Amino acid sequence: MNNWRITLAVENQEPGGQLEYDFGDGQETNSSPGMPGQKLALITHPDYYNFTGNTGTWAMNQYQNALKELQEKHGIQDLDIVQPELATREDAALVHTPRYVWDVFGPTNRSKHHAWSGGPWDKTAQAAVLRSTGGMLRANQEAMQRGVAVQMYDAFHHAYPGHGEGFCVLNDIAIAAKKLSHQGKRVMVVDTDVHQGQGTAVCTKGDTNIYTLSTHERENYPGYKEHSSQDVELEYHVTDQEYLGLLENALVKAVQEFGKPDLVMYVAGTDLYGGDKLSHTRVTIAGIRQRDAMVLRFFGSQGVPVSVSVPQGYAENPRDSVTMIKNTVMESRKALQTYYGKS
Ligand SMILES: [Zn+2]
Repeated sequence: MNNWRITLAVENQEPGGQLEYDFGDGQETNSSPGMPGQKLALITHPDYYNFTGNTGTWAMNQYQNALKELQEKHGIQDLDIVQPELATREDAALVHTPRYVWDVFGPTNRSKHHAWSGGPWDKTAQAAVLRSTGGMLRANQEAMQRGVAVQMYDAFHHAYPGHGEGFCVLNDIAIAAKKLSHQGKRVMVVDTDVHQGQGTAVCTKGDTNIYTLSTHERENYPGYKEHSSQDVELEYHVTDQEYLGLLENALVKAVQEFGKPDLVMYVAGTDLYGGDKLSHTRVTIAGIRQRDAMVLRFFGSQGVPVSVSVPQGYAENPRDSVTMIKNTVMESRKALQTYYGKS
């Protein structure tokens, strides 16, 4: 696995352009998962949104608005809406400590959970956390079968093994990656949120079946950075061109170091956008879309399944967050049609 090589078939192109990567596996054709003409799976559930206090910081209706517009305004009818099961205690225990699993699954008779800022820590909040973790597990399953699937929700990459942090209660990325690792699969996490996926790095540390790549702003939350397999720290005011070039190099390095993964978990962060309240970049909406296309092409052209999650944005103009979520879904759908279901 680790002797996979990468050659850039086309060099000196614009970052995010039409680069094709040859992973050098020596096969004439790369078989890819999925069937011709299949639909993109979008993982979602009413529990994701119907929790007490779904307002303000969370504003989860951006996902619902994006889905509605994709279907009604853009006429996209070939989406397969998949409702996941709840995550179990056993799932959570793949990553989290017994005490913390008890804390999350136990009685909700507290006014607050220290990592949950959506409102009171009640049954609806608990259901949102457990259902969305189940959704990440399901997104990976669907991606392995179809080629691409999208979890229409945040990725809770700040949660640590023994505590939650940064609005993240359970680390769904790490749980879903660990589940596959235990089945002998090799998983690469490509986290492009503006904040480091520091919890994921800690939750998966020492597991040689999991590789974590995080691109994030150096001077941003979390103050204390952990060590991912590869970290790319961005300075303030990074542009589309600079960012896409850095990410492209990081993807090449990731495959050189880890080999070809069985699945990529792509965290398509929208808060990297320059118009986001939490970012200091100059990255544009078009740049974010180019990034999505680049990551999906990089792995899709080699038949590697990709499960995509879409962390919420905090754009100054909330319309921009909806636009970026729609773009990510549309690029995922395009990648599914272009790269998968071929033999
Ligand atoms: Zn973030």
